[in-house]
Amino acid sequence: MRQITLSNGQTVEVECLSCALTSGLIEPDGGVVLETEHFHAHQDVAYPIKGLIILASKRHIKCFDELTEEEKLDYIKVLSKIRKAQRDVLGIEYVYYFYNEDTTHHFHTWMVPRYDWMYEFGRSVESIRPVLLHARNNMNGGQNLLEVMSGIEALKNELKIIGGDKN
Ligand SMILES: [Zn+2]
Repeated sequence: MRQITLSNGQTVEVECLSCALTSGLIEPDGGVVLETEHFHAHQDVAYPIKGLIILASKRHIKCFDELTEEEKLDYIKVLSKIRKAQRDVLGIEYVYYFYNEDTTHHFHTWMVPRYDWMYEFGRSVESIRPVLLHARNNMNGGQNLLEVMSGIEALKNELKIIGGDKN
């Protein structure tokens, strides 16, 4: 069990943070970006990178091969829909996808936009952790945080327009 403090100051104990988020028990900062029958997308603002999205399954599973046929279809559709919105409204040219199965959460994919400043931390997978830590420790306020929040709103609106529902 882990203790989570809600935005209203109340503390709850949850078994799995992903379950708490996807079930709506916890509202992510910035809100839900997209929700389908099987998946839930939000920005983790603890890592303030504009356009970064966490796409989590609603079912408490850990591994890719646990997805049902229906979930597999929903996953690839929602992933590409979010990717297109990142490109169309935020101008994001490249995204890194990160997903690990040995998680204390459950099935979730990180979609980390690639920005020019990140290349100083390396050109590939080795740069992901330093990039995330740099964002968390040095970009967590001011203009950047406003940019992140406006990015969330832009993605939400775009995904509403192109249909964020069960299709
Ligand atoms: Zn879970």
